[in-house]
Amino acid sequence: MSLLLLVGLFFSLSLPAQENIPRIIAHRGYWQTEGSAQNSIRALKLADEIRVYGSEFDVHLTADDVAVIFHDDTIRGIAIQSTLYKEIKDFRLPNGERLPTLEAYLEKGKTLEHTKLVFELKPHQTPERNREAARQVMETVNRMGLADRTEYITFDMDAGLEIIRVAPDAEVAYLRGNVPPARLKESGYTGLDYHHSVMLENPEWFTEAKELGMTVNVWTVNDPELITQMASLEADFITTDIPAEALKTVANPAKEN
Ligand code: MG
Repeated sequence: MSLLLLVGLFFSLSLPAQENIPRIIAHRGYWQTEGSAQNSIRALKLADEIRVYGSEFDVHLTADDVAVIFHDDTIRGIAIQSTLYKEIKDFRLPNGERLPTLEAYLEKGKTLEHTKLVFELKPHQTPERNREAARQVMETVNRMGLADRTEYITFDMDAGLEIIRVAPDAEVAYLRGNVPPARLKESGYTGLDYHHSVMLENPEWFTEAKELGMTVNVWTVNDPELITQMASLEADFITTDIPAEALKTVANPAKEN
């Protein structure tokens, strides 16, 4: 073995592995910037521009089955899921955009070249309504030719299982944080997407998930030091409200003292 090879081997063993750079997901798009707003179409476009891996967004079905993009269950005090679309369609986001429908949001997504669509289906009122919501939104995603660019996440077990049943090849991760990786794998989930505190309480889940061939995503990590820590624990994805800063942090981790 040549000296050069030996030196190379020494450094490759003594330095932290560099291949595990987590991919960044912009939580509700890239919204903490001029002219943007959470879950706006503009935030999706800006996430694509800064070249994050993915842009996350939240989806509810209205009472008459129109899928809209919004985080909270209520908009100006009106419960989205029990209201007709016409009652809320003219509401504006803080950046002036009209409340986006899933169709309008995906139309923009189709024109973007980089970002994955990290689709959070919000819980609905009953198990059957959750399954119905899953089928409806997937039909829209598939009809628009975006199945390959879409990854699903959900807090609702029934919705996730329905997505898996309809599309066994889809990437589907569970958000609630209360199920160990092996049980999720048995149910057909491809990943866990848990709060960072849950992963710190159960650090063995990082390695268990990896051994099972599952991905680990952590939310919502808004502190650069915590981002660095999640990277060192080998999270595959980091979901964050500071995507531009997070991209720099993972590419150039600060030395831990
Ligand atoms: Mg969300």
